[in-house]
This record gives sequence, structure tokens and C-alpha cells, in this order.
Amino acid sequence: MRRLASLFFFVVFMPFTALAVELPRDYVRAQSGAFSQGGMVVLYLTNNTQVKLNGERLPQVDGRTVLGFGRDAKLAQQLEFQRKGKSQTVSLSLKKRSYNIQRIDGLPPAMVTPPEEAWPRIARGSKLKKAARAIASQDDGFTEGFVWPTKGRVTGVYGSQRFYNGEARRPHFGIDIAAPRGTPVMAPASGTVTLAEPDMYFEGGLVFIDHGLSVTSAYMHLDSLKVKVGQKVKRGDVIATVGSTGRSTGPHLDWRMFWRGARIDPALLARGQPD
Ligand SMILES: [Zn+2]
Repeated sequence: MRRLASLFFFVVFMPFTALAVELPRDYVRAQSGAFSQGGMVVLYLTNNTQVKLNGERLPQVDGRTVLGFGRDAKLAQQLEFQRKGKSQTVSLSLKKRSYNIQRIDGLPPAMVTPPEEAWPRIARGSKLKKAARAIASQDDGFTEGFVWPTKGRVTGVYGSQRFYNGEARRPHFGIDIAAPRGTPVMAPASGTVTLAEPDMYFEGGLVFIDHGLSVTSAYMHLDSLKVKVGQKVKRGDVIATVGSTGRSTGPHLDWRMFWRGARIDPALLARGQPD
């Protein structure tokens, strides 16, 4: 019986424990998040600890820091801790993800390039997005834990990619949540609104929230915006409503998360949808 119990433990729990990354307690008091492609991790550091990720020093807010990994991040990563003249390097091996890939062949070669008259508007939009995402504030909303911004059927997932006639399209970096037009969209954690544009070419109504230390969330295809740039929001505040504006085929929220240049999988950050 004992043997059976230990076998049970091995089979049932090992796959989970194997994914946990144990960080040295001299430097890290606690941690949350996933060391995975598309994952984001918050570290609660001991006093006077400094951290570098692959040689680059990470900024902190009150002894807390955050790091993230993109869709195709290399699996081998190095975390270096320094404190009071001592240091320790931890070699991480990220969890590898497999993404939904669709190949659609035999399509007539269609022009999907936006018309020339839309180019100035697209260029203006890219500039606004880039400037908003370059903001690295000392907000600490990223430590709160994220909740789903709205409720609905998930119709698109992070990382999926289509190939048309063998040609790769851009991977999908958001999570698509289908919901009726007008459904409230809530801030998933507190932060400051850094972008609130009602009519972007691709995204339609678009809002960005900065959650501190370069963690940004984005909400696309919004019907109406309820916030302005510079406004502070708390987790659960209504920031907008679901719509189908911009390049969209039906009412849904496309929710995206960024850490610096890395695109994070929102589904890894937020637990199940609210009831
Ligand atoms: Zn989408």
C-alpha cells in the first residue's frame, strides 16, 4: 500500500514538481508565475538583492521585480543574483510550448495588404503604440495577480499561427474572448492608462494599461472607451466595452500582455474566468 502510495505520488505529482523552479532562498523570498515560453514571473527579493536576467539588470519596485518570456524564447536562460558581495547564478530551462499551427493551401493569391490611403493612419498608430509601450513606470500593479477582463467563450489562443499557401502569417499573440457588443471590459490589475484610441486601423478601439516595470496590457476592437490617457485604474474598474471595431469579424475582446518586447500569454497569468 505504501509502495502504491509513493508510486501514486510519483506519477501524479512529479510532472508538476518538475516544472517548478527552485530559486535560492538567500535571494528570493517568494515567487509567482511560470518559467515557460509565454510566461511571466514575479520575484519577491530579500533586502539588497540585485537580479540580472541573461546579464541585464532588472529594475525593482520595493524589492519586487518581474521578468517575462516571449512565444519563442530560448529555453536556456540565466538568472544571476547578487547580495552583500555574494552572487549565485541559476540556469533556467523554460517549459517548451507547442502552438496550434494551421496550414491552408490552394488559396487564390489574394491581396491582403491594406490600401495605400490607410498607410499614414497605420504609421501614426504604430508610433502611438511604441511610445505607450516604452513607458516603464514604478507602478506595482503587476504584483496583484491578474483577473480576466471579461467573460466569454475563448475563440483564439496565444501563439497560434496560420500558413496560407505555405506563407507564414504573424502568430496570434492575444487571447480572443467572444462576448456581446457592449459587455464591460475590466482592468485585470491596477495601473495607469497609457493609450486610449477609439479608431485604430487594425485594432479599432484600443486601450493600453501600464502595470509597472514595463508590464503592459492591451485591449482591442473596443466599442466604447471609458478611460483617458493618464488615468489610474484599479483591478475590476470598467475601462471599455466589447466591440468589433477595426479589423474584426465579430464582437470579441482581444486581450494581450507585454513585458518589454516580449509578448506574454494572458492565459498563463490569469486563473480561470470569473463565474
Ligand atoms: Zn485576436
